[in-house]
Amino acid sequence: SVDLGDRSYDIEIGRGLLETAGERIAAVRPGARLAVITDETVEKLHLKTLQASLAESGIDHAVMTVPAGESSKRFSEFERLCDEVLGARLERNDAIVALGGGVVGDLSGFVAASVRRGMDFIQIPTTLLSQVDSSVGGKTGINSRHGKNLIGAFHQPVLVLADTGILDTLPLRDFRAGYAEVAKYGLLGDEPFFAWLEANWKAVFAGGPERDEAVARSCQAKADVVAADERESGRRALLNLGHTFGHALESAVEYETARLVHGEGVSIGMMLAHEFSERLGLIDTAVVERVEKHLTDAGLPIRMSQIPGQLPPAGTLMDIIAQDKKVSRGNLTFILTRGIGSAFVEKGVDPALVHEFLVEKLSS
Ligand code: NAD
Ligand code: ZN
Repeated sequence: SVDLGDRSYDIEIGRGLLETAGERIAAVRPGARLAVITDETVEKLHLKTLQASLAESGIDHAVMTVPAGESSKRFSEFERLCDEVLGARLERNDAIVALGGGVVGDLSGFVAASVRRGMDFIQIPTTLLSQVDSSVGGKTGINSRHGKNLIGAFHQPVLVLADTGILDTLPLRDFRAGYAEVAKYGLLGDEPFFAWLEANWKAVFAGGPERDEAVARSCQAKADVVAADERESGRRALLNLGHTFGHALESAVEYETARLVHGEGVSIGMMLAHEFSERLGLIDTAVVERVEKHLTDAGLPIRMSQIPGQLPPAGTLMDIIAQDKKVSRGNLTFILTRGIGSAFVEKGVDPALVHEFLVEKLSS
């Protein structure tokens, strides 16, 4: 459960949940009509199962599809979906269902937050990243030409259904990318979980009960942080471990050509955050090596040189970091660490040090 007073909601996790989605939705929102938003890839693979379950429970619904990929998080898709939801005569008590990864979730959540000033929103995340991260916490939105996720709203779902069996069809690259966020929860605040992942990551990838366990522990970690700090004034910032460097890389490298997906940026970013912490004398080399080994075992990139093509200069990355709303009075806010599971927010990082560090890492 995500505990947010009268906006609290449950995250249900397990293999095969999609087959009973209808009854689960009817239990939280009896009588609601639905707009199911999905992307073209997920539509082909999993929409039928959802529709069969909705039909069984007698739930009336319309389906709206967007192209797969990050570029659907844009105004033109947002506008079209808002019009389609209104055109389908959905009312305030009806609900929007996101069936897809983080792209579909962020976009549909923003539609749900906007149409009629807020409709009920249900997440059925279909990527590992969306199951452990984006479907929980209520951040929704689209991209702008000025950067990623710059337009949006906080809008909590009323239910999250994470069917871990759905991940069987996910391409390995996307599974790995989501796994970077799973490892992040261990690295930021839970050393025993990180150690568990070191021992069990293969079973998580293979889809045994360990996968459910990893998703559940990740959701629990995110839910705890969100319940303590919904609007990111304090503790929630810890979830940005690896994301300051990661976002800068993601923004500098065109996402249309998929040179770098979000979780890959996060993986490299987490590695950089550990190396930078080592540079500041906060951790020793053994910690850095342990992180490096696990991310590499899981098949994730850990160095900027692993990104195909020309790398952006350090100055470009610094400009993006400076814009990334993490700057106050000339100092940068970074998530640093004192060891595995011991990340903390440091508000007084000197940009010159970061610049020097990046120049060095880019040439190594
Ligand atoms: P995504 O939604 O683009 O999904 C990745 C790819 O996998 C897509 O091509 C999709 O069609 C395909 N796919 C989805 N489910 C599948 C399945 N079960 N089988 C086969 N293919 C499947 O990307 P993502 O990695 O899920 O999410 C990335 C997005 O999430 C980014 O836009 C990022 O900004 C956002 N995000 C949001 C939050 C938040 O708190 N709201 C947090 C982290 C990331
Ligand atoms: Zn992330």
